[in-house]
Parts: sequence; C-alpha cells; structure tokens
Amino acid sequence: MKIAIIGAGFTGLSAAFELLKKGHEVTILEKDAQPGGLAIGYQEKGWEWTLESFYHHWFTNDAAILGLAKEIAYPVIVKRPKTSSLIEKKIYQLDSPRTLLAFQKLSIGERLRMATVLAFLRFDPLWKPLEKITATKFLSKTIGTKAYTILWKPLLVGKFGKYVNEISLAWFWARIVKRTTFLAYPQEGFLAFAQYFAKEIEKKGGKIIYNASVDQITSMESPTIQYKTPTAADQLLTADKVIVTLPSFALIKLAPTLPEGYKENLMKLKGLGAVMLVLRLKKQFLEDGTYWLNICDTTFPVLAIVEHTNFMDPQHYNNEHLVYLGNYLPHDHPYFSKTAEELMAIFDPYLSTLHPGYKKDIIGFTKFSVPFAQPIIPTNYSKLIPPFDTPLKEVYLANMQQVYPWDRGTNYAVELGQKISSHIMRGN
Ligand SMILES: Cc1cc2nc3c(=O)[nH]c(=O)nc-3n(C[C@H](O)[C@H](O)[C@H](O)COP(=O)(O)OP(=O)(O)OC[C@H]3O[C@@H](n4cnc5c(N)ncnc54)[C@H](O)[C@@H]3O)c2cc1C
Repeated sequence: MKIAIIGAGFTGLSAAFELLKKGHEVTILEKDAQPGGLAIGYQEKGWEWTLESFYHHWFTNDAAILGLAKEIAYPVIVKRPKTSSLIEKKIYQLDSPRTLLAFQKLSIGERLRMATVLAFLRFDPLWKPLEKITATKFLSKTIGTKAYTILWKPLLVGKFGKYVNEISLAWFWARIVKRTTFLAYPQEGFLAFAQYFAKEIEKKGGKIIYNASVDQITSMESPTIQYKTPTAADQLLTADKVIVTLPSFALIKLAPTLPEGYKENLMKLKGLGAVMLVLRLKKQFLEDGTYWLNICDTTFPVLAIVEHTNFMDPQHYNNEHLVYLGNYLPHDHPYFSKTAEELMAIFDPYLSTLHPGYKKDIIGFTKFSVPFAQPIIPTNYSKLIPPFDTPLKEVYLANMQQVYPWDRGTNYAVELGQKISSHIMRGN
C-alpha cells in the first residue's frame, strides 16, 4: 500500500518505520530541511554535537523512545542532573523525596503534607477520576497553603498563564508519575538521533522529501496532497492513505473541505507556543551545577533556565556553556515579535541577580520560537480528543493532542507513530 506522511517529527518518522517494516511504500513530506520536528536542533561552528532549539531530555521510563534507540542501536546517555527551583530569590534543589523533605522554606509538617500529596498522585494508578478536577483547585486545597503559594502556584501560573485554572489534575498527575531523577539524552543530540533514524527509514526503502511544504489535502476517491518545494510549486502526490502529524489547527488550514462540525471540535483544542533564547557563554551560569531551574516567581520574565551543559559535557560544544531561557506563551504574546537582542535586554536585569557579571562571558545568543509547543489540557479532556480517523476518506490525524493523559513528548510521538500505523492497517 502507498502511504504518505506529512511531517518528519518523531510521530511521522516512527509511523514510517513501522509501516516500512510491514512492507508498505512510504513517502514523508517535511517542510523543513531536517527531520526532528519540535525536537530539531542545530550546530554552531566548532561544536562536535548538535543542540536542540528547545531544551529536550528523556525520562528513564520513556520506554517507547528508549526501545526505539535500542532497536536501531543508537547510543543513549543516562545521568542524574540537578533540578532546582528559584523561590524568593534563592535556589533550592527539589528533585527527589530526600530533597523535598529537606526543603527548609517549609516546616516539617508542611513538608510531610506536600510529600504525602505528591506520593498519593505518584502511586495512584487511576487518572480518569482526576480529570474532572482542576490542578489548581486540588493543589490549593491539599498540598498546604505555603507550599502551594511559594512553589506550585507560581509554576502553574508561569506555564499556563490565562489558562491556569482550566488545567486538569490528570495533566499534573501525568507529570508527577512520569518524572524520574535520572534523565536520558541521545548521544550527539536529538537532531543527530533524528537524522540517524531518518537514514534507517531510507535504508528500508522509505522516501523523505525535505523542504516540501504541504499546501492542501483533498480526498475524493483517494487522498491527494498538493505541496511545494523551493524549486517547484503545485506538486501532487496521491496515496492510498495519508497520515497528518501536524497540530489540529494546521489540518484545518490544509483541508478546507472538512465539515464545519469537525473543524469546530478541533478548534476547541488550545495550545501555547514557546519562545526560547539560547545563550552561549564562556563560563558556567548556574554555578551550583543545576541543570533545570524552575522559576517560582511570576515577575521573572522567564519560566525556566536550563543549563544544558550542566547535564551534557561542555567539551561536546567547544567548551561553551549553553543556557536556555524558556517561556510558554500564547501565540499573540509580544515576545514572539521581539528580536533576540530585545529579549536579552528584558531578561538581563533578572539574570544578573542570579549571576552578576555573566554578561562579559557571552559568546552569542539565538532566539527560537514556535506557535504550538504545549497542548492545553482542560478538565474532561478525554471527551475532546480527536480520533485518528478524519472525515476525509483515508486521511488520518496523529498529533500531540492525542497522547493524553500523558504530556507531549518525543516518547509519546514514537508511541503514537506505532499506534497510528497499526490503526490504519486494521481491516486491510
Ligand atoms: C519547548 C519544548 C520543550 C520540549 N521538551 C521536551 C523534552 O524534554 N522531551 C521530549 O521528549 N519532548 C519534549 N518536547 C516535545 C517534543 O518535541 C514533541 O512532543 C515531539 O517532538 C512532537 O513530535 P511530532 O512528530 O508529533 O510533531 P512535530 O515535532 O511538531 O512534527 C511535525 C512536523 O511537521 C512538519 N510540518 C509542519 N507543517 C508542515 C507542512 N505544511 N508541510 C510539511 N511538513 C510540515 C514540521 O516541520 C515538523 O517537522 C518539547 C517541546 C517543546 C516545544
């Protein structure tokens, strides 16, 4: 069977890999010049490894992607980096039961209460009853007033902004259940891993057309895709089945003949974009060795500071120290239209409070942004999830808005690629 896949992110690559194993003819159309989608990366001159445009790591229980790495014999590094939180201008390591129980901002009673609530969520196997409640309502009532006020509320508000009171407890549950203290990372970076995976797909006979931007999908008897490349507009590709791995709003744009009712349901799915500044420094920024710093202060213009080279060795990046300054934001937020220099000017006074004099160590900085980075998961989201089948004949949707109760991630992209490939083959 002839199958076309739109998007060479990990969902599209994984679906292609599975379908090729079953002997199908697969073509991927990817608008970018490289595979990897949201996990794409880049390489500055002198760097031995690639770096993601947006910070990325795996949890050690990310079975689908770690299983894939093993299957294609790709090396994975496992380490125990330090995760901390900035609370009332001080950094506290809070990334294990031991460090939570040692957290001095709370009394022993408050710490035990918080630990009990987190343990309840971690060991509760049933997420479904939790989806009826919002995370803010549950946490504000159970985790203790001080713990909620100084730690959890600022994190949730910082991440979800105006959507904060809609977020389901099932989303929060998934974050607690999945978190591992040890983290994993593909050797040479996610881009190198995606490139290697893409080569494995090509070795199996899969075709990947890069710089191919799909403009339209129609489906009368069988699906037809219209796409353009830098050298040719209005190219057509017909297939027996098409898998679309783009966010739901993008499918609406590509398929104008979709029925109004279906489009309305997809439009109910909301998301946040991401704006990231990657700083290249001559010296370490977070000198206590923290890899991931949650900012529990909603006046700070950054949600998380992630020092990649406090996780992976700076020697892979020409001894540069690489720091992400990350935010999730609605796509109309002014940060999207600011230049890297303008963002640096906003962030600088705050960064200086954490590391006075860091500016003299700057080698450079780059801005990355994407309009859809994080699905919003409101209460009772299970009723909103779009099915794989679309109203267009033999056109299927597989994207990050369907991996609930889990949060988006490359692990779930791989799992989704496996699921959609089985789904479309049912009955054939
Ligand atoms: C800030 C941030 C941090 C993250 N952190 C982590 C993390 O630590 N660990 C983790 O595992 N995951 C993380 N993720 C999530 C992870 O990157 C995504 O969940 C995953 O990569 C999604 O894969 P996908 O294939 O479903 O979608 P995408 O990666 O979005 O792939 C879709 C592909 O379609 C292509 N495309 C779009 N439009 C067209 C078109 N018209 N024609 C042709 N092609 C098109 C895109 O270029 C893209 O390659 C993070 C994401 C962000 C943004």
